[in-house]
Amino acid sequence: MIDRNTALALARDSDPGALMAQAAAMRDATYAGTVSYSRKVFIPLTQLCRDVCHYCTFAHPPRRGQRAYMTHEEILNVARAGAAAGCKEALFTLGDKPELRYRVARDELASLGHETTLSYLAEVCELVFRETGILPHVNAGVMGAEDMAMLRGVSVSQGLMLESISPRLLEKGGPHYGSPDKDPATRLDTIRIAGQLNVPFTTGILIGIGETRAERVESLLALRDLHDEFGHIQEVIVQNFRAKAGTRMADAPEPSNGELLWTIAMARLLFAPEVTIQAPPNLSPGMLDRLVAAGLNDWGGVSPVTPDHVNPEAPWPHLDELARQTAAAGRTLVERLAIYPDYALNGAKWLDRTFRTPVLRLVDGDGLPRTDGWMTGTPSAPPPLWAGSLAAVSPAFADIIARARDGADLSESDITRLFRARGGEVAAVCEAADDLRRAMNGDTVSYVVTRNINYTNVCYFKCQFCAFSKGKMSENLRGQPYDLDMNEIVRRVVEAWERGATEVCMQGGIHPEYTGETYLEICRAVKAAVPGMHVHAFSPLEVWQGAKTLGIETADFLARLRDAGLGSLPGTAAEVLDDEVRAILCPDKVNTAQWLEVMEAAHNAGLRTTSTIMYGHVERPVHGARHLLRLRSLQKKTGGFTEFVPLPFVAEEAPIYLKGNARRGPTFREAVLMHAVARLALHPHIANIQTSWVKMGPEGVKACLNAGANDLGGTLMNETITRAAGASHGQEMPPEKMEAMIHEIGRVPVQRTTFYGVPPEDQVRTSFGAAPLGDVVNTPARRYERDVKPMLHRPGLVGAAE
Ligand code: SF4
Repeated sequence: MIDRNTALALARDSDPGALMAQAAAMRDATYAGTVSYSRKVFIPLTQLCRDVCHYCTFAHPPRRGQRAYMTHEEILNVARAGAAAGCKEALFTLGDKPELRYRVARDELASLGHETTLSYLAEVCELVFRETGILPHVNAGVMGAEDMAMLRGVSVSQGLMLESISPRLLEKGGPHYGSPDKDPATRLDTIRIAGQLNVPFTTGILIGIGETRAERVESLLALRDLHDEFGHIQEVIVQNFRAKAGTRMADAPEPSNGELLWTIAMARLLFAPEVTIQAPPNLSPGMLDRLVAAGLNDWGGVSPVTPDHVNPEAPWPHLDELARQTAAAGRTLVERLAIYPDYALNGAKWLDRTFRTPVLRLVDGDGLPRTDGWMTGTPSAPPPLWAGSLAAVSPAFADIIARARDGADLSESDITRLFRARGGEVAAVCEAADDLRRAMNGDTVSYVVTRNINYTNVCYFKCQFCAFSKGKMSENLRGQPYDLDMNEIVRRVVEAWERGATEVCMQGGIHPEYTGETYLEICRAVKAAVPGMHVHAFSPLEVWQGAKTLGIETADFLARLRDAGLGSLPGTAAEVLDDEVRAILCPDKVNTAQWLEVMEAAHNAGLRTTSTIMYGHVERPVHGARHLLRLRSLQKKTGGFTEFVPLPFVAEEAPIYLKGNARRGPTFREAVLMHAVARLALHPHIANIQTSWVKMGPEGVKACLNAGANDLGGTLMNETITRAAGASHGQEMPPEKMEAMIHEIGRVPVQRTTFYGVPPEDQVRTSFGAAPLGDVVNTPARRYERDVKPMLHRPGLVGAAE
């Protein structure tokens, strides 16, 4: 960001070329190769205005036979057409307080039951959101705190162009003469009030109306000061004056292209990177590439439904054409909401309660709108795959991929950038990951015949994403608390072996009555019944709790488990290995360091483990990057991870989602990218990337197998945890179906053991055409047996009050 003196010196003497490259580089560091737009409908609530700006054709005096205000029906018709066309913003633009100037406005407002335009505006904003779900953004003119607070309750963002800080423009002969609301001090007051009320705010300047370059810089600096104080200015528009027929300024010269480019670049250099710089594409046809080169990152609202009522002579480009021209400028066009990403993802501060959950449910991990209907674990169809190739991405992006292929350690920012891939970049990441997979694993796709046994769903932890666990009292709609009898565990193990399994995967809730001894007994019982069965069991949380309840070190407990027959550990309970995320998601379970400690101890004890991530809830791309880096770092030290398993968040029944505090799970792009980026970031340290059919569904896993994954996980037999969260892809994927799915994408199925070895021939043979599973018996949870309440260990709260 440049300082005031430098900016004013540049205003005296600089040409656009000198600034544009610097501005574009600054933009590129933040906006990941994208230019955004908001898909909107334009609702001109009233075109009466008490001001008389001499360049404006939007406002006009009352016309005989014309209503002063749009009716509910007219507004809803526009909004519904927008909703049908995928619009997510209803832009209300209106003249400033017409009731102060025109009797007809007062009378019509009275007939509508209102005294002011702003109170009618609040009513129709609420109506539009309630009836269509489109998010209102209001450009309602100059106002005080009370009105702005009222509008904050019915909109997600508000806007007011400063236009110019120059009071000269109000003088006789100036464009703002006779327009009291164009007094810069009044406008800055309104923008300040927005900051005080935490309103995400859009503002900007209008150039070429008689101001000097220095005054433009002063205008931008005044806005910057307000943003520095409140952090609320989400975008700054640089709008070029267009001379319109029928106005007093019809013959006034328009600003040159050079002035426009210079001002865009200057705005970019003056503001912090998170503030968007926008210029309307319809006001500069034929030069969008140069606007991009000047450093902007947004085209503003573009409507596929309504005209630009402020500039009716300049139609918005068709969205396909806008995408094409943006691509020609080397960028991907992405949709955004009226409220910008950082504000959308921090709704507790920036949004009225009404909008927090609806906005969160509309966005992905970047805070941009979800543009497909796919949802983890549901039968929703995946969207079409991405077009593009490695050859078509920017050199900087290609360089990250090239370094990954060479096995270089990608940095946090490299990995974050890969997660933020859009459009053709997604195709490039998937292509590179697929190449690496082929080089590492060949064309085989492996899977293991395994049975999930979740011995209890009683749990004293409070993971906010978990729909599986049942507290002591919560016999809720999704079934009774249970606690399997040891005989039933053994019966399931024996049955699994008879159906060709080589592994049982055992995990459960953290039952307050369970101790380390419980876990040891389970291992002994399984091995006594079926010595050849591999016991893959106990999350790091269970290991932690087991050790604590026995009062021994984790390493000693792991050694005892190993001696009792434990073969390996699932890398669950990792969720996202970042304490910022865990504080929201699962504050009382093992924290990041504790999870890594248990895993390291397991590896040191000769017990190999898987590794997982559960993503698509509250984390952002940077958290996913940190997670991968932490796994990579431990793997380089111990080599103990057999595979990495991305587990997309299943939202439907998850408490955190039902409370409105999480996203809807990853988008399909994010879900697939997790596999592809992991392949690149973990290469060559973790050679196996697994994709989960339970979460991704048959079509989803095929996409992932073509994007870096080489393993389909287990046949499972009894999948319960994901089903409890709302997934519907079934309980079992028998070998026949697994292999058919793999053949469909032209790959070679291969059954494996837990450690990617060759299973006994007899077991493989038995696994095909296995008898149907017998009924399971979910032994009801016993009443708590001890008189003395067990000590409940909550590792995540160690150091805090337990
Ligand atoms: S995720 Fe595991 S530890 Fe957390 S509440 Fe569910 S069962 Fe308990």
